[in-house]
Amino acid sequence: MDKDSLLKLLTLQEKEERVLKLLREKEKILEEINTFEKNLEDVNSKINDINKQKESIEHQIENFIKSIENYEQMLNKISKSLKTAKNKELYKNILREKSKTENAIINTRNLLKQAYTQLNNLEHSKEMKELMSRQKFILEELNNLKEDLENMEISISKAQKDLEEYRASLDKSLVDFYEDVKNRVIPVFVPIDKKACSYCGTILPLDFYNRLIQNNIYTFMCPNCQRIIYKHFDIIK
Ligand SMILES: [Zn+2]
Repeated sequence: MDKDSLLKLLTLQEKEERVLKLLREKEKILEEINTFEKNLEDVNSKINDINKQKESIEHQIENFIKSIENYEQMLNKISKSLKTAKNKELYKNILREKSKTENAIINTRNLLKQAYTQLNNLEHSKEMKELMSRQKFILEELNNLKEDLENMEISISKAQKDLEEYRASLDKSLVDFYEDVKNRVIPVFVPIDKKACSYCGTILPLDFYNRLIQNNIYTFMCPNCQRIIYKHFDIIK
């Protein structure tokens, strides 16, 4: 193969490798997004659980407040009826009723206080704080990753367009030759490494090596892996 053809095909290979590299990077970003989305689901469901507990306590609080109001109305009525009690027996009964209602108010107020404490503890719990900061972190990471993904997609389509345009600019026979070798081995071109094929390590026959070094030939097919070996320091700066 002449130097010019070699250079053209090496450039084609580089452009193809660039597209593949970008596609692999895109895959990595997608995997990361997937992992973060799973983590987010997990965090959200834990936050949801805590919120459900909060709602249930808030519901209890509402009920306690209503109960206290009811008890207070009852107490009001009882106090009034105490004044109009017709006999001692009735008076004593009403008094007992009054004391029961007062106790109920005290008990319910205690329960209300406990519920407020529980609610406060839940809202300010270490777990909730950790979950909220974890959620914030994940959302930020996801935003960054989605931005990376968009940029990556732009880079990929640019690189693909560049590759296709370059391929179209080459002689069809040259591209066909490259594709033909590529059907058997990838990558098609590998640089020489000392006196061996840098892909499989096979030592080149001495006369071919000398001819490569002396630029009598530019390429040589590796007898073992069938890749095309070239003297890269002569071709690529
Ligand atoms: Zn080889």
